[in-house]
Amino acid sequence: MSRLQNLAILGATGSIGRNTLDVAERYPQRFRIFALSANERMDELADLCLRHRPRYAVVAQSVQADALRRRLEAGVTEVLTGPQGLERIAAHAETDCVMAAIVGAAGLAPTIAAARAGKKLLLANKEALVMAGPIFMQAVRAHGAVLLPIDSEHNAVFQCLPDPFSGDLRSHGVRRVLLTASGGPFRDIPLERLHSVTPDEACAHPNWVMGRKISVDSATMMNKALEIIEAHWLFGATHEQIDVVVHPQSVVHSMVEYADGSVIAQLGNPDMRTPIAHALAYPERIEAGVGSLDLSVISRLDFVAPDFARFPALRLGYRALKEGGTSPATLNAANEVAVSAFLGRRLPFLAITAVIEAVMDELHPRALTSLDDVINADLSARRHAQIQVEAMTV
Ligand code: NAD
Ligand code: MG
Repeated sequence: MSRLQNLAILGATGSIGRNTLDVAERYPQRFRIFALSANERMDELADLCLRHRPRYAVVAQSVQADALRRRLEAGVTEVLTGPQGLERIAAHAETDCVMAAIVGAAGLAPTIAAARAGKKLLLANKEALVMAGPIFMQAVRAHGAVLLPIDSEHNAVFQCLPDPFSGDLRSHGVRRVLLTASGGPFRDIPLERLHSVTPDEACAHPNWVMGRKISVDSATMMNKALEIIEAHWLFGATHEQIDVVVHPQSVVHSMVEYADGSVIAQLGNPDMRTPIAHALAYPERIEAGVGSLDLSVISRLDFVAPDFARFPALRLGYRALKEGGTSPATLNAANEVAVSAFLGRRLPFLAITAVIEAVMDELHPRALTSLDDVINADLSARRHAQIQVEAMTV
């Protein structure tokens, strides 16, 4: 039995955060909840602190911190604030394992801090890797961090590779990586209906319960576009080696094809506790609370080619990967602005990818050599995206 690991969960009140706690609390002798962070749902964070008694809790602002302190028993949990608080728990000497489950670019700094502190890093926050790929991977390598993917597709690919950390697919005889995609809630609806779909319709994912931002990303398939870039950085796959296949049942989580024609797939019920448990216990296997896969009940598994006309985001993902440099950060930031405008009912659904493409056309990719380059590209894309949103506002 492995020793007790101190776990820091960045984004503890989110969908991934809650699933992480669900798995970790099954093994109190393996995992200690050392630090929790949240940006909203303060009542839920207070309940989590009372239940798990972490050493640290991190919230966004000092008013929230004061309110949280009043609810907690004195002397158990120290309440920290803001980005410094997040970086402190991510890099803390006593933190063994960091679950990076903040949504969007806000998760970049603490996730990089965890990599630079050489932690075991469970990566759900794909946006951080997409924005800062070369800087992020360099930090992981230079500081000996152990990077384990939580995204179900990448966790599946990881499980199908003989040496997932090598970053050299060809020497392992890998021909390509096949990322599966459910196709989201709008896979089959008539194209003319797409311009008027609402945020609630976009967030009603057929197979997964997720935060609202990633749900909209799944509806546009920008989520898969980000995942193409994520797969490139995690596994060293070129854009020619990454294919997407639409698989509505979300049972095959992804596949790896080898030079001899063998295709190895990882299957399971669509439940994020599986990849979370895989990464938490890696290289051991633990119970995750996920039931057995009953293929006779599912009875069929369908696969179709993605529709690039319906989902232009996929094309933008490949474009950003091919352009390289700041292009993925631009794609990601413009997407965050456009999705937020859509969720706020200020932008129609089809304009999300139109905003992103316009921003990518305006901002020519530049080389990425430092975290400052990433942050500047992100800010610049956000400014341009805001202007595009205003121009396309309903
Ligand atoms: P969510 O919206 O449910 O939760 C996000 C968490 O981050 C919350 O705890 C929130 O308080 C915190 N947060 C939000 N903005 C913040 C900010 N500015 N500063 C600090 N904290 C902030 O999101 P989720 O669905 O759990 O997704 C989290 C990440 O995991 C995303 O990057 C997503 O792409 C990825 N992911 C999620 C799933 C899933 O099934 N939910 C699957 C694969 C990958
Ligand atoms: Mg995924």
